[in-house]
Amino acid sequence: MGVATKHKKAFLLKHPYCAFCGGAALATTVEHCPPRSLFQDRQWPEGFEFPCCEACNHGTSNEDLLIAMLGRLDPFTELGDRDGRQNGLMHAVSKQFPDLFPKLIPSSAREARSRNRKLGIKPAPGRTHLETPVLSVPAEFHVAICTFGRKLAKAIFYRDSSTIFPSDGCLFLNWFSNEQLMLTGKYQMLELMREVNGVAPQLARSGRLLNDQFSFKLSMSPQKDTLALQVVLGKSLGFVVFGSTRPGALESSYERLHHEHGKGPFAVIASSVLQVQPDFGFSEHQIKPA
Ligand SMILES: [Zn+2]
Repeated sequence: MGVATKHKKAFLLKHPYCAFCGGAALATTVEHCPPRSLFQDRQWPEGFEFPCCEACNHGTSNEDLLIAMLGRLDPFTELGDRDGRQNGLMHAVSKQFPDLFPKLIPSSAREARSRNRKLGIKPAPGRTHLETPVLSVPAEFHVAICTFGRKLAKAIFYRDSSTIFPSDGCLFLNWFSNEQLMLTGKYQMLELMREVNGVAPQLARSGRLLNDQFSFKLSMSPQKDTLALQVVLGKSLGFVVFGSTRPGALESSYERLHHEHGKGPFAVIASSVLQVQPDFGFSEHQIKPA
């Protein structure tokens, strides 16, 4: 038996049930969440392996691919692509989502210019506004972020509580693109939540810190039935997931939370009471790659 197979066998013996679909399914695979390809040189943080059934693991591979590409976009530096893998990721994305790229790029020089002006971007000498694009956020991005946010929240809940997030629990997600970072240097929502008590661990592999690529802060109630998870992916996007393991408990706060935190796209990503349906009111949101 190879080392990897041995490791997997021992891991699944310790973690027999899938952490992502409520606890009824046996885990047969090991899921890396966030996906390894998000990280430079595939150096993902230690301890971010989770027991997963076949369906949960392979059902989200397209969204994982999009997240890996999105999470590396960096409007300030080239650091998002220091391993040179971003091009390959983009090719893989365009294969899986053939209609996606034309939707991202501004359709005219005029539109490109107006987007850039809004964010105070001046193209480098000799480059046009169209060559310095601000990307639109199409539905595919929103769906991928919702899918990833749901998986990550369940994974981190499992990591913290050693229990599986129930299938009738509730999760809301509110995300924001780096447009906010460019305009104000920070994510408004995370500033608002700065005082909320929580744990923001250092994430590393072989002693190398990875928080510049992926970081989070988890706030859990002492009963471990209510959570708020703040996540930042590099310089590309951030989101907050609010969750409750008690069916109906969080749903009653939907209107209030949506109103208070509705500055970016807001979605019900798990619920046995409300319809799980992304809210596509996000035409104003854009992402700046480099
Ligand atoms: Zn599963």
